[in-house]
Amino acid sequence: MSMKVLVINTGSSSIKFELFQMPEEKVEASGLLQRIGEEGSELSYSLKGEKYKIAQKVPDHGVGLKLIISALTDGEKGGIEDISEIGAVGHRVVHGGEAFAKTAKIDADVLQAVRDHIDLAPLHNPPNILGIEVATSALPKALQVAVFDTSFHQSIPPHAYLYPVPYELYENQRVRRYGFHGTSHRYVTQRAAELLDKPIEELNVITAHLGNGASITAVRGGKSVDTSMGLTPLEGLMMGTRCGDIDPALIAFLERTQKMSVGDIDKLLNKKSGLLGISGVSNDMRTCEEAAAKGNERAQIALEMYAYRVKKYVGAYTAVLGRVDALVFTAGAGENGAELRAQVLENMEPLGYKIDPERNAVRGKEADVSTADSPIRVLVIPTNEELMIARDTYVLASA
Ligand code: ADP
Repeated sequence: MSMKVLVINTGSSSIKFELFQMPEEKVEASGLLQRIGEEGSELSYSLKGEKYKIAQKVPDHGVGLKLIISALTDGEKGGIEDISEIGAVGHRVVHGGEAFAKTAKIDADVLQAVRDHIDLAPLHNPPNILGIEVATSALPKALQVAVFDTSFHQSIPPHAYLYPVPYELYENQRVRRYGFHGTSHRYVTQRAAELLDKPIEELNVITAHLGNGASITAVRGGKSVDTSMGLTPLEGLMMGTRCGDIDPALIAFLERTQKMSVGDIDKLLNKKSGLLGISGVSNDMRTCEEAAAKGNERAQIALEMYAYRVKKYVGAYTAVLGRVDALVFTAGAGENGAELRAQVLENMEPLGYKIDPERNAVRGKEADVSTADSPIRVLVIPTNEELMIARDTYVLASA
């Protein structure tokens, strides 16, 4: 069945979108509406290969989505003739908790379940819900589908998802590891199976999603068995502005010695730490690399810490999996950071990782960067969460 699928990712002040012609998986349009409800709202998008910008007041998400739809249906620019050609809308939803191990058709119960998880993702689920509501009213005939960041990780076993704290916190407050970036980890896992020509049920991989946020996942037989992000996206790797793993006693220490409020500490760990906190320069890997190249020592140590912490997880997940077919690098820094990849895998030959310096000199495209005799393949696979959402949405819409 031929149809167009609109993929939307709604943030607190933005809507990112991509329009696919399915099942061909052809991208017909994509764009980003920013600063909704603020000064200087702007829609930048591409349609049929041409780029456009519309600056206009966008007071709320409802008006924003209508603007996007009118841009998509602009006949003069070769837009689609009729919005009824959009058969389904796929929504990125950050937190599905334990309620969703799979992508779901949205109905009143599903929407309520997403609402029930607001306490676990207070910054993300509310705008996602808003996106679903405005899309349902703007495109009432289209099927609405929710694709959760957490669902790929629902296969993680209890010994890996529980924290060693009183069990009642899990039973009553749902405190556990959930993991995020699931759509990205799932996409690169599927792509690795294709590239290695191996049935996904037999594939063991470690997938490192290294963007502004970063997480790493151990995948056994195509299923997530452990991941570095936890109850929230703060745990695990060092990130642009997030600390990742630290001694949790730091929170009480800061409260006691600096008289900081828990809210301020939370902000410190989420927004002022990571690459930014250590370098004092930037949360951006490239900017840190430039500063380090000019002799900035704190930027240098920030980069070393970042790579060291990825390395530790690669080692840990190699132990978890026992047999690893491939390590996959993805997202901004994973896809482009050749130096980072080399640092992560330095001295890892005894574990089976042999990176080839020449092959590793690749940015932003699919490649095998390991030596021909490396026991474990090292792959660079650009992620494509939008395509994964479009595929899931199409499967449900055409069933
Ligand atoms: P987001 O999580 O916001 O989607 P991205 O996946 O785009 O982020 O990743 C952003 C990160 O990728 C930034 O730290 C950026 O510096 C880094 N990055 C992009 N290009 C390069 C590059 N050529 N070398 C090193 N890092 C890069």
